[in-house]
Amino acid sequence: MSCDRPGPDEARELLRSARAWVEEWAEEGVVSFPPAPAVAPDATAPESASPKKDAAPSPAEPASAVSAPETPTGPGGAAALARVRDELGECTRCELCQGRTQIVFGDGNPDADLMFVGEGPGEQEDRQGLPFVGRAGELLTRMIEAGLGIPRAEVYICNIVKCRPPGNRNPLPPEVSACRPFLDGQIDAVRPRTIVALGKPATSLLLGRDVAITRVRGSWHDYRGIPVMPTFHPAFILRQYTEQNRRLVWEDLKAAHERSCGRG
Ligand code: SF4
Repeated sequence: MSCDRPGPDEARELLRSARAWVEEWAEEGVVSFPPAPAVAPDATAPESASPKKDAAPSPAEPASAVSAPETPTGPGGAAALARVRDELGECTRCELCQGRTQIVFGDGNPDADLMFVGEGPGEQEDRQGLPFVGRAGELLTRMIEAGLGIPRAEVYICNIVKCRPPGNRNPLPPEVSACRPFLDGQIDAVRPRTIVALGKPATSLLLGRDVAITRVRGSWHDYRGIPVMPTFHPAFILRQYTEQNRRLVWEDLKAAHERSCGRG
């Protein structure tokens, strides 16, 4: 996975930002990394148990009427994901195919309990063929690994469109519609216990309506029977690096992680 890397200044800034964030969490007393052991409520085998996606939502969860994901009955996530990727092929179903270097399908554990969905690949992602590997991606990785205390490889990460929108603009409705079946296929394949929707475009798609992310973040929603936690996109956090924004994202990610472990 050796790839183009950010320049030294960019890398230093990213490192500084991530370190400051983690330190501030600690100062605020909202972190006690690593998280509590991932003990499943019904088993002694925590993360690799199979089937594993049978956790019912907690009745204590605020304003949630989310039903638990179905118990898996099909093939493993890897095989199912491979079928979705095969079906996608060298896709030309929308105009985004014209500007891409390569399709950015997804990355991570095919049987992940926690899934992150963003809006679309950026420049680095387009070059490397992996989601969330630019500055925002590295921040997301720090949030997952330093914040939640789990390896990035244990979660699954993808976007609502698999090809880079020109100039990093938001994907247009026809593009989102064309790519949506493959996002649905990924969700069905991975069968996560919890989805984190990163930013407005991903959240609007999953909630089925145009949303203001500031209004819906931090509350539970539902997509195809899976609890969805909307939160700010890490690129927004990099632009608006305030204590308040960092605290809100931390609260959202913590809630999503705990629920994905059956603790929420
Ligand atoms: S964004 Fe999705 S639908 Fe559009 S060309 Fe890329 S893979 Fe195909």
